[in-house]
Amino acid sequence: MVMIRELQEGLFAGGSAEEMINSLFEKIRRSRLNAYNHIAEDQALERAREFDRSPWEGSLAGVPIAIKDSISTRGIETNCSSRILSGYVPPYDAHVIERLKEEGAIIIGKTNMDEFAMGTSTETSYFGPTKNPWDLDRVPGGSSGGSAAAVAAGEAPAALGSDTGGSIRGPASFCGIVGIKPTYGLVSRYGLVSYANSLEQIGPLAMDVEDAALVMEAISGHDPRDSTSVKSEGGYLSGLNGGVEGLTFGVPKEYFGEGVGEGVDPEVERSVWDAISKLEELGASWKMVSLPHTKYALAAYYIIAMSEASSNLARFDGLRYGLRLGADQDWHSTFSEIRAAGFGPEVKRRILLGTYALSAGYYGRYYLKALKVRTLIKQDFERALSSGGADLLVTPTMPFPAFKIGERIEDPLSLYMADVFTVPINLAGVPAISLPCGFADGLPIGLQIIGRHFDEVSLLRAAKAYEDATPYHEAVPKEVI
Ligand code: GLN
Repeated sequence: MVMIRELQEGLFAGGSAEEMINSLFEKIRRSRLNAYNHIAEDQALERAREFDRSPWEGSLAGVPIAIKDSISTRGIETNCSSRILSGYVPPYDAHVIERLKEEGAIIIGKTNMDEFAMGTSTETSYFGPTKNPWDLDRVPGGSSGGSAAAVAAGEAPAALGSDTGGSIRGPASFCGIVGIKPTYGLVSRYGLVSYANSLEQIGPLAMDVEDAALVMEAISGHDPRDSTSVKSEGGYLSGLNGGVEGLTFGVPKEYFGEGVGEGVDPEVERSVWDAISKLEELGASWKMVSLPHTKYALAAYYIIAMSEASSNLARFDGLRYGLRLGADQDWHSTFSEIRAAGFGPEVKRRILLGTYALSAGYYGRYYLKALKVRTLIKQDFERALSSGGADLLVTPTMPFPAFKIGERIEDPLSLYMADVFTVPINLAGVPAISLPCGFADGLPIGLQIIGRHFDEVSLLRAAKAYEDATPYHEAVPKEVI
């Protein structure tokens, strides 16, 4: 396994960054996972050699990081695993990439994902699915499946993903690693290719809570180029070892037994209850809470996400970015031809449904209604997490462990339903983390801890205490070369 802190110790003890990165590239080339869309070999090795000549300071000095292919990287192709963006090389870095570089990190490549982040399994990628390192016949989760598989298999010590409705936490859960969806506004979205901009955040995937906190510290904070971003108080690392004594965990009753908890795998449910007992043993208390509108979350999420997507994806007209076809025809035919050939079926489905939900006559019935439901869901979380309520909530991340490649892709609804525990968090804008809490038939199970707006400190502190008391994050998947 590759951990950020161990890598850094090696580098500070005189190890060569060039050798370390070369050995990662060696692994990636031999890998059967299809976790990467591109590796940035020339840039990464050049930067590593520079580092070896005169090492620089920074919390991530010399650390290789993999980036989801929806985050713009200057000079490195960024295509969101879509044919329509194939060949597009951004002329600028996303804010998070600038921050990683300022902290001394080395960008090693771009990871596979569901096309435009629309999916739960990384199977909608134009470049074929990524495989789960715990079982090559299974999906790694999605949409940041490439990032999660790469980290779990030791093909990167950490990675960035983006999470619109679960895309960091789901893959972290399926691959047995840690993933954080920060509070909406904590991390600048400047340079992230938008899917549903009112819901999404960039966040880290890493082998353990401390590594994830290290990356969080680097990428969070105000950026004037994203008007929704806010100043960050930080303190994620310094607050890590506070323990859980005095914290109250809320267990949403709707997520267990009847209601939205109905389709949950019994092993998943058992592992989450075991985790709750463990937290209690460590000095926390817990109580049942209620999120009464949670049953409407999936419907509201998919209407809002698809509506925003239909508007955001209008910019892909084949004239400004990527794929070019039929340039000798009139504009209208060129536009149609490029979009017909450039987008995959899931993206087309969402553009069509989103356009419908926003169209005159249906706007009030669908989109506006979904926004109202969103407010109710946000209020549910605020109530459950109010003073006198709980400090944090605990739920499963995914209702079941990783499923087989091909098993659900023909049935989009069953894929949408898999997001039942993750999408309410994006609707409410609160932060959440997924971390390993057990296994079912050798496949990892993820525990989701949810916090108050901008209270990442408590979230990370609780996750760290749980992790320190359990062995699950130490298990190594089969497919590690
Ligand atoms: N599975 C959800 C969707 O398809 C979430 C994806 C994401 O978070 N990007 O919208």
